[in-house]
Amino acid sequence: MESGYEQGAAYLDGRFMPIAEARIPVTDWGYRRSDVTYDVVGVWEGSFFRLDDHIARFRASMEALRLKPAESDDDIRRVLARCVRLAGLREAYVAMDCLRGRPAPGLPYHPVHARNYLVAYAVPWVWLAPPDVQARGLHLITASTPRIPEACIDPRVKNFHWGDLTRGLFEAHDRGADTCLLLDLEGNLTEGPGFNVFLVRDGTVATSDHGALEGITRRSVIELCAEMGIPCEVRPIPVREIAEADEIFLATTAGGIMPASRIDGRIMGNDRPGPISAGLRERFWRRRAEGWHATPVEDLAGGEG
Ligand code: PLP
Repeated sequence: MESGYEQGAAYLDGRFMPIAEARIPVTDWGYRRSDVTYDVVGVWEGSFFRLDDHIARFRASMEALRLKPAESDDDIRRVLARCVRLAGLREAYVAMDCLRGRPAPGLPYHPVHARNYLVAYAVPWVWLAPPDVQARGLHLITASTPRIPEACIDPRVKNFHWGDLTRGLFEAHDRGADTCLLLDLEGNLTEGPGFNVFLVRDGTVATSDHGALEGITRRSVIELCAEMGIPCEVRPIPVREIAEADEIFLATTAGGIMPASRIDGRIMGNDRPGPISAGLRERFWRRRAEGWHATPVEDLAGGEG
C-alpha cells in the first residue's frame, strides 16, 4: 500500500488519489439528477470475481444511458487494478461510476452537451450483512413501498435511484429487521437494497425474471444450482410465494450468498439458514477459493501511465 492510501484509492479525471480526496462538483448532473450509472466488483484473496462480466454490464448500462467516458474497457480494467494495488487490498469493494457533468457555460442546458467521465475506487471489502448476521440468517420484511416501475427506471441498468430501497431500509429498521424485499406494482417479488432474492420451496430454487438487476451473483447462483443438480427457475414470483417459502436467500457482490431465517416475523425452518441456502453459500466460497471466475489483480498491468 502506498502511504496516504490507507482508507482506499480513487481515480478521477485521469488521476489517482487517496479516497478522501476524490470529490465531484456539486453542480454535476451525476449528483443533482442521479444521471449516473455504476458497477461494483469484488476482490477476494487478491483476485477480481467475474471482472469481465462486471465490465460488460457496466458498458451496457453506460450505453443505455448514452454515457461514454474516455476510457476503453481495457483502460477501466487497468484503472481498477491500479486502485486496488494503491490501496494494498487483498479483499476490496471496487466501484466504477460513469457520471454526466453539466454543459459548459454558453452551451444549451441539455444533457447532450454535458461531458461524461469515469470515477473508480477501491476500499476495504464491504459486507451487506456482517458475518454474525449471515450465520444466524437475516431477518427480512416485505416493504410496503413498491419498487420504482421498471417502465420508468430500468433496474437492469445499475442506478442511484434508491429512494424506494432506502424507504424500505428504514421500514425494516423500524420493524426490527435487517433488510427488506420489494414488490412490483402487480405484487411480484423484485429485489432488495443491493441484492437479488431467491426463494426455496420443496427443493426448488426460484428468482424473479423481471423488475430486478441481472446480478452477477445471481448468475453465479444459477450456475451453482446447475452444478449441484438443484432445480432453479427464473420466473415471476407472486407475493404469496414469499409467505410459503421454506428458505429465502439474498445474492450480492457485497457478501455473496446470504441466507435469511425470518420473513415478516415468520421463522423459517429452525430459525437458522436452511440447508439449500447454506449448501449454496458454502459451495460459492469454496469455488471462489479454487479460483472460479477469478482474475488476479497482479495479472492486470499498469494503469500507472
Ligand atoms: N440488486 C440491486 C438493486 C443491487 O444494487 C445489486 C448490487 O449489488 C444487486 C441486485 C446484486 O447484483 P450483483 O450480484 O451484481 O452485485
